[in-house]
Amino acid sequence: MAFSLPELPYPKDALAPHISAETLDYHHGKHHAAYVNKLNELVAADPSLAGKSLEDLIRTTTGPVFNQAAQVWNHTFYWRSMRPGGGGEPTGKVAEAIRRHFGSFGEFKERFSAVAVGHFGSGWAWLVRVGDRLEIAQTHDAGNPMTEGKTPLLTCDVWEHAYYIDYRNARAKYVEAWWNLVDWSHVERGL
Ligand code: MN
Repeated sequence: MAFSLPELPYPKDALAPHISAETLDYHHGKHHAAYVNKLNELVAADPSLAGKSLEDLIRTTTGPVFNQAAQVWNHTFYWRSMRPGGGGEPTGKVAEAIRRHFGSFGEFKERFSAVAVGHFGSGWAWLVRVGDRLEIAQTHDAGNPMTEGKTPLLTCDVWEHAYYIDYRNARAKYVEAWWNLVDWSHVERGL
């Protein structure tokens, strides 16, 4: 029962001009695919891992298996955190939760962007739910907030491969563009 690369939830050119088809070609078709392939190699080589779900592997392994499993999960979640024509301010339940926990949408956006732009090296910025609280989190490399008992609601990939084709080293420009793609209905499903 090998893991497979999930299809992107939209056509490869659908996030342009914020994220180009070329970036998605590499990010999904090469990077995400490589994590899936490597994970399958590692699982096939270790009978104790047979039949475990991606979430099981993330919660119970460390080292190379954790890194590949978490990167597979994180990327699938990242694709679903965005949609063509997304962005803007959330409404309804998400808007209310963000106001309650961060004061205002503007304050939330500023704090999330600061974490995403300021993260040193490769990693991820997250909006997470901890019990009934919302928090902004960051993880290094393949890190996933589930290992700390936090429920991911939204993520922004800040590995250079997420933005180097479109923005070169200008991570702040990528993060600003990423806000135009956020799928708030995806966030609402996790509340
Ligand atoms: Mn990535």
